[in-house]
Amino acid sequence: MDTKYIFVTGGVSSSLGKGIISASLAKLLQSRNYSVTIQKLDPYINVDPGTLNPYEHGECYVTDDGAETDLDLGHYERFLNVPTSQANNVTTGRIYQTVIDKERHGDYLGKTVQIIPHITDEIKHRIKILGNKHKYDFVITEIGGTVGDIESLPYIEAVRQLKWDMPDNSLVIHLTLVPFLAASGELKTKPTQHSVKLLLENGIQPDILVLRTEHELTKEIRSKVARFCNVDISSVIQSIDASTIYEVPILMGQEKLDIQVLTKLKLKVGKSPELKQWKEFLLKRHQSEKTVTIALVGKYIELHDAYKSIVESFEHAGATNEAKVNVKWVDAEKVSSKDADNLLGEVHGILIAPGFGLRGVEGKIKAAKYARESKVPFLGICLGMQCAVIEFARNVLKIKEAHSTEMKPATAFPVIDLMAEQKSITNMGGTMRLGAYPCKLKEPSVSFNAYKNDTINERHRHRYEFNNAYLEQFEEAGMQAVGINPNTNLVEIMEIIDHPWYVGVQFHPEYKSTVLSPHPIFVDFINAAIKRSKIK
Ligand code: GLN
Repeated sequence: MDTKYIFVTGGVSSSLGKGIISASLAKLLQSRNYSVTIQKLDPYINVDPGTLNPYEHGECYVTDDGAETDLDLGHYERFLNVPTSQANNVTTGRIYQTVIDKERHGDYLGKTVQIIPHITDEIKHRIKILGNKHKYDFVITEIGGTVGDIESLPYIEAVRQLKWDMPDNSLVIHLTLVPFLAASGELKTKPTQHSVKLLLENGIQPDILVLRTEHELTKEIRSKVARFCNVDISSVIQSIDASTIYEVPILMGQEKLDIQVLTKLKLKVGKSPELKQWKEFLLKRHQSEKTVTIALVGKYIELHDAYKSIVESFEHAGATNEAKVNVKWVDAEKVSSKDADNLLGEVHGILIAPGFGLRGVEGKIKAAKYARESKVPFLGICLGMQCAVIEFARNVLKIKEAHSTEMKPATAFPVIDLMAEQKSITNMGGTMRLGAYPCKLKEPSVSFNAYKNDTINERHRHRYEFNNAYLEQFEEAGMQAVGINPNTNLVEIMEIIDHPWYVGVQFHPEYKSTVLSPHPIFVDFINAAIKRSKIK
């Protein structure tokens, strides 16, 4: 079949959950045996979100091919269980960079380079590349931002042109909000009408409307929206607040969003998908009786989106273990040796989060010490692993001045250091070890036991590495490198042998955990936390 292009736009307000709606629709289509991918177009000028402060934009998600992307791509992978790539996230910065490079190259043969057609052509090219090259049945493209934003205009214009070019193979889903006014006890449709008017002003008639709401929409409300916005009443889809994002595919299935899409694109509808495994996950999630508390030690604790993939990995691993994971957000800067017990005394597991820069590092090192000494299950991710290494060097190997050259460039004991090839790099964007690298596991180890495999592939995002000059000392004292990159000999996993569960990983397991394939390291970590909860 020809690739079908579905565009998801948003109106009225940001944060309505276009990413989750896109991922849920994709899930429903995928379970009808279509190949589906989802792409996010971001309207900001950064070339990628890698240089964005997590306070601004939440977590930076990394793909197998090493793209630093928007956190929505994490949802796409968690829902679809299929890896995404650089092509799945495009920013205005990248579009302009490509067009300007071409202009400098003389590719436009002396023409005036303009938003229409040059920028819009580049956007269209980036959208169609997924269909042309990878031959997906469906490409769902989520347009970041809200209609009416100046920044989104070129994207909206590209969508208008594509709809015109491919009337039978494209459709637009517009997501809006129906607010509930408590004072009058009413749901209000006017913002939706205005938002659709804005789209119409830009030449786009939406085919399907998805309305976010706190309360059930009545038939009258649906028909009012349908009438004002020129859509069929069956194309007015309710998206009611759900207890978890993983409920949304089920809700969208009940609202027949997938059937609407198939019907409008003149595809056979067939039997509705069962979503058996998905429903099993939801059931386990609801029925879990055990609860474990995991301290997440990080420096962006007021902003949970900064650790999105970690929190979602807990969801997947919790359901697998039939346990609820209660996250205790611990501010790394507050973990001083005195109140470590206060902050961490009651928890069943400690996770030290990834991060950059000095702030919070000493607290993370103290939390690693607390976990080592009190035998609480410990998972250190990236900077978390590096902090565990520094802690071990300082307090077990008695190298008091041990540090990472990221935090203390002049340290005489750089247990974490830049590799030679990184030393000359001064540019901040895209200069890290990024994307998937292989790793060989040693037996016996906690990690081997979790993965049940001796070769793994995990995603990285960092500049600094364990300094192999110290490896012998560490191993003799009981912290062992049980995961090694077979090509470069870099240390990827450190474990403390004399501890029930103490694992530091230089990579990011959280990027690869999905509903249908919960990550083995997280599953085993939560299992260890459950064991801990039984003795404490
Ligand atoms: N700042 C550390 C490095 O660059 C760790 C990065 C991370 O935790 N993602 O090596």
